[in-house]
Amino acid sequence: PGSQLPFDDTKKTLVVLGSGWGATSLLKALDTTEYNVVVISPKNYFLFTPLLPSVAVGTLNPRSIIQSIRYITRHKTRGVSVIEAEAQAVDPVGRTVSFSDNSPIKGETSTRTIPYDYLVISVGAEVQTFGIPGVQEHACFMKELADAEQASLMQKQFMDCIESAAFPGQSKEEVERLLHMVVVGGGPTGIELSGELHDFLEDDLKSWYPELASKIKITLVEALPSVLPMFSKQLIDYTESTFKESKIDIMTKTMVKEVKDKSVVLQMPDKSMKELPCGMVVWAGGNKGRQVTKDLMARLPADQTNRRGIIVDDYLRMKGTDGIYAIGDCSATSYAPTAQVAAQQGAYLARMLVQMAKKDSLENKLETLETEQTKVADDEERKRIADEVNVARGQMAKIKLRPFHYSHQGSLAYIGSEKAIADLPFMNGNIASGGMATYLFWRSAYLSTLFSLRNRTLVATDWLKVRLFGRDVARD
Ligand code: FAD
Ligand code: NAD
Repeated sequence: PGSQLPFDDTKKTLVVLGSGWGATSLLKALDTTEYNVVVISPKNYFLFTPLLPSVAVGTLNPRSIIQSIRYITRHKTRGVSVIEAEAQAVDPVGRTVSFSDNSPIKGETSTRTIPYDYLVISVGAEVQTFGIPGVQEHACFMKELADAEQASLMQKQFMDCIESAAFPGQSKEEVERLLHMVVVGGGPTGIELSGELHDFLEDDLKSWYPELASKIKITLVEALPSVLPMFSKQLIDYTESTFKESKIDIMTKTMVKEVKDKSVVLQMPDKSMKELPCGMVVWAGGNKGRQVTKDLMARLPADQTNRRGIIVDDYLRMKGTDGIYAIGDCSATSYAPTAQVAAQQGAYLARMLVQMAKKDSLENKLETLETEQTKVADDEERKRIADEVNVARGQMAKIKLRPFHYSHQGSLAYIGSEKAIADLPFMNGNIASGGMATYLFWRSAYLSTLFSLRNRTLVATDWLKVRLFGRDVARD
């Protein structure tokens, strides 16, 4: 499909949309020998999302948790084409994908449509704002998010609030407002972010801004009756008590109804409305499907009826299509939209694709042999071909495509104050653990799952730098 591509028209073309958890796991495990592989993603890198909240307060440098996608693709048996572009539309009938280069610098050609035999959609999700007024305009996002720079922008905004509060002559009310940070969403993103904000305050701001530090206030607002519904009750209680000690206010059964320039409007548990002045609002209210996903689903109204995302069968095939697979946050399954699920789905699909390539090649072989058989007059030759047909059929019968099975390795979250929580499956039950030891486990688990030696070194160095010199409070 393009001059730079290692294209072989005897092989099937596999197009992968995205370079996140699902796509990279697929690409790592995929044997590319039998495919023309094309990866299309607007970011030419993989982002290690679990450590993103640490970027928001400057514990980690954003570049430490990203790694070029070419880091994987350049070592593949057959070359893989990586195209930095955004998929705009999928035509499931014509079996094509259209994409365009939406980055600031474009060449003369910046839109293309290419055919696929197999398409893997792993475009993730985007931030869900429920159309609440003012969120887009006034809140910071931990998402779009799949954007490390956005997270470091948050640190700049946080520092701006503090410097403005330090401006001479600022009234007491204005200082209180500027130093009030509101985090919306008590899912793991909101919790981890509040914990990181608290660490920044305790570890650094207290010594750099002693006159202001005690006035900084963090409020976490959650619409449901409790935070972290995916964790066990014991760990929810532990998180709530840690937050209480850390002076992070949790407001549950409270819904943000509007975000204004200098405040948030809340619907309180008794349904009354309250306006809370604040300097910064961070939105961690969950996910929704991307436009390209929604557009494709809209073309298949009879089969794609779930508003959460693409409906797939047990083999991750998009319902109502042929040759399209969906993995990760863009799909709607019985699993939570996590990196763990996306990564396992990607690895599963890589194995499936190898099996499918074997099946395809045996099917081609059988077709050729059967045609040959009808043309050959010689009995012995016909027998030889019949034997070969039998062998190929036997090999075909052995190829079993097994359904996807998710194996939960546990949930981990950092909650600030050098404490983490973990729900780990053990024997046939769960172990719930929280505290300093879990925090060290959290750090080592993430360090070891980071993408590359480069990432591991950079993250370990960032942690060491923060230990030695504290976080950077200079606002560039
Ligand atoms: P993503 O990883 O989001 O990747 C989507 C990819 O698609 C990106 O490369 C993006 O650039 C690309 N893309 C976007 N639009 C297009 C388009 N139009 N065309 C082509 N490509 C496109 N999960 C855990 O299991 N453990 C954790 O500790 C954890 N921590 C998290 C912390 C934060 C702050 C966040 C936000 C999420 C966290 N998650 C965690 C959830 C996890 O990140 C997601 O479930 C995971 O990223 C899903 O993988 P994915 O491949 O579906 O999507
Ligand atoms: P989420 O959907 O888990 O949580 C969002 C929360 O925001 C919900 O509890 C919702 O009730 C609340 N909310 C939405 N609108 C609101 C409003 N107007 N007012 C008040 N509250 C509102 O989203 P998330 O935390 O970003 O997590 C997304 C996915 O990523 C989940 O599957 C999660 O498990 C995964 N994740 C995992 C980890 C981890 O394991 N450490 C970390 C981050 C994310």
